[in-house]
Amino acid sequence: MPKQTPDGPSIYPNCGDRSAYYRHLRNGTPTCRPCKDALAKSMNKWRHAKGINKGRIVPDTIIQKHGIKVNA
Ligand SMILES: [Zn+2]
Repeated sequence: MPKQTPDGPSIYPNCGDRSAYYRHLRNGTPTCRPCKDALAKSMNKWRHAKGINKGRIVPDTIIQKHGIKVNA
C-alpha cells in the first residue's frame, strides 16, 4: 500500500501511543510515524480479536480533506 501522507513530526510527549494519534487528529496536526504504528498495531489487535478483516474507520480529517459525505 502506498503512503498516502508524509509523516509529521512527533510533537506530543506521548507520541507513539494510540491516544497521541487521536490527539494529532483532534488538533489537525499531521500524524507522526510512531503514532501511526501505534494505531496500526492496536487496530490489528482489535481486528483479530473481533475477526474483522477490513475496518471502515476514516478519521474526520480525511473526511473533511476529501469532502466525503457521511451520515453523522
Ligand atoms: Zn505523534
